[in-house]
Amino acid sequence: MSSPFTIDFSGRCIIVTGGNRGIGLGYSEALAKTGARVAIIYRSHKDAPKVAEDLKKKYGVEVRAYKCDVTNAKQTVEMFEYINKELGPVTGLVANAGVSVVKPSLDLTTEDFNYVFNVNVLGVFNSAVAAAKLWKGKNLKNLSIVITSSMSSQIINQAATNEPLTQVFYNSSKAAVSNLTKGLAAEWAGQNIRVNAVSPGYVKTDQTDTLPRDVIEYERNHIPLQKFARPEQITGQGLLLLSEHGDYMTGGEYFVDGGQLIW
Ligand code: NAP
Repeated sequence: MSSPFTIDFSGRCIIVTGGNRGIGLGYSEALAKTGARVAIIYRSHKDAPKVAEDLKKKYGVEVRAYKCDVTNAKQTVEMFEYINKELGPVTGLVANAGVSVVKPSLDLTTEDFNYVFNVNVLGVFNSAVAAAKLWKGKNLKNLSIVITSSMSSQIINQAATNEPLTQVFYNSSKAAVSNLTKGLAAEWAGQNIRVNAVSPGYVKTDQTDTLPRDVIEYERNHIPLQKFARPEQITGQGLLLLSEHGDYMTGGEYFVDGGQLIW
């Protein structure tokens, strides 16, 4: 009899940036549930250590929170090395931390651009490089990086029908990070490091920085709720890519958007 299709991350250590809330928390929980040791990276949220502690108790695996600003390359490399020693060996990364500034383009500033691109593009790059540095020359198996991009890499989100959600820096940063995914996948294929992007549609989270609160409320009122996913509806694709079942998958961008891009 053939064995059932399972994903079991027992014995593996996976880093999730922005893993303390929103979609990242969905990843942390899904990974803990499947047996992984999870290293949550957060920027500053005071509840992050408690979130890790709660997951650890709930699933009986090591889950720890590490404060690190992924826009800082040196800090990110040092933090990944620290995690690798404390909780590793790290064999997977979900580079998920992301932010947005929602304003009409005429009001956007250079500071807004730097803020969004520093987290969404440079922060993802720093995280991926920090992981690849850990793995260089080690001959480890099944090394996988999953980047959270967005369907906004392809389209302009709507606040209501034919009304753009005004966040051109966010959308363009996601287009950039989707291309960055392919570039890293191409460079690192020879080192057995797979790099893929999971691009969600609209996701309903309790707390989010990606959209300001008034915009979230506005969206919830104007976009039918069934168009919003829960984080756990996004993470399955990421888990597949992190697992050995995804070992022929690299350089891809996988849209988990409830069909939004059909239109
Ligand atoms: P969120 O709830 O707003 O949380 C953002 C996370 O990123 C937090 O954990 C935050 O840490 C962390 N973070 C921000 N800047 C950081 C930095 N410089 N260094 C380290 N961590 C940092 O996020 P979300 O809405 O779930 O979105 C997660 C990802 O999915 C983002 O890449 C976003 O663009 C993408 N996405 C979201 C949606 C959606 O509808 N929500 C749709 C498509 C794609 P602190 O908690 O410490 O601040």
